[in-house]
Amino acid sequence: MSSFLKVTNLCRYYDNVAAVQKINFEVNEGEFVALLGPSGCGKSTTLKMIAGLEQPDSGTIEIQGKNVLDRAPGKRNLSMVFQSYALFPHLSVKENILFGLKARKVPKPERQARLDKAVEMVGLGPHINKKPGQLSGGQSQRVALARSIVSNAPLCLMDEPLSNLDTKLRADMRTEIRSLQKQLGLTVVYVTHDQIEAMSMADKIILLNQGRIEQTAAPEHFYDKPLTTFVASFIGHPPMNLIPQADCVLGVRPEHVVIVGDGDIGANTGVEMVVKECDYQGSETIVTGEYSGAEIKACLAGKRSIDNGEVVKIRWEPAAEHRFSKQGGQRLKADG
Ligand code: ADP
Ligand code: MG
Repeated sequence: MSSFLKVTNLCRYYDNVAAVQKINFEVNEGEFVALLGPSGCGKSTTLKMIAGLEQPDSGTIEIQGKNVLDRAPGKRNLSMVFQSYALFPHLSVKENILFGLKARKVPKPERQARLDKAVEMVGLGPHINKKPGQLSGGQSQRVALARSIVSNAPLCLMDEPLSNLDTKLRADMRTEIRSLQKQLGLTVVYVTHDQIEAMSMADKIILLNQGRIEQTAAPEHFYDKPLTTFVASFIGHPPMNLIPQADCVLGVRPEHVVIVGDGDIGANTGVEMVVKECDYQGSETIVTGEYSGAEIKACLAGKRSIDNGEVVKIRWEPAAEHRFSKQGGQRLKADG
């Protein structure tokens, strides 16, 4: 696999404050890469620099081996999908989808062929003569996707495209976008602050924190081997418990904590936790308590009610332990 997009030492400052500092990553052809991180960490700035909507202060951006920094956005052979859809309100769905192709003087029969295909792929058939004001959020986002599909650009940049949609639709659209991406063989850089989107859609995740990359890896590595306490506490729901120890910070995921005596027969081990809260969520209950001065969460199957103040014994398998340095929160080498 060849590197389709290569970003090297990318930096961008606003008023002498770094929004993006020395970012390096590569995206292979046909790969779906998520740029993940909390609000303000530099995701959109990075994406806009790739698109050519912002100029970096330093660093390079190569697409298919060519430096594109001096190319205008329209000459970078990429398409963009935004959270806001960016549709023209006075144009119909069809005209919105075809706008870019008309501007580029693509011949009419070809426009029609691309329109038909895109409309079918995103299921907009009955709506092509409507105006954006007559569409739901999900339909509007499909128009934006169709516009990106008809452009035939091999690289697609998406900035939080689903964050305006409700939970159920978001889940459907995740699957839809991923399958479109595979069908079309698109190379995608997908910005999101939602770890579930990143974990479920991406081949590779780049997690940003304050303009820097914390970790670049496949989703399962983020979960199994977070490189820092920041990553550990960003990925997972609820996030990993972090327990200060004399020589390190111990990490244990809530789903790996069990209550002794809970089908965990004969275990005379474990440590005491004072229960503070039980949060029933349907398939599981999240029990919050205190152990060794740290707040601990345990995910237990089904509905559980334990009184506040009750002391329970908790334990976890040694293999479920993660260790990080006290200073800097870096994963300790002995921990793999
Ligand atoms: P994200 O998309 O991850 O939420 P952004 O890339 O939009 O973050 O912003 C990164 C940082 O840069 C933030 O601190 C933001 O306030 C700042 N920033 C972004 N755009 C501008 C701008 N046009 N002027 C000044 N500061 C900006
Ligand atoms: Mg943003």
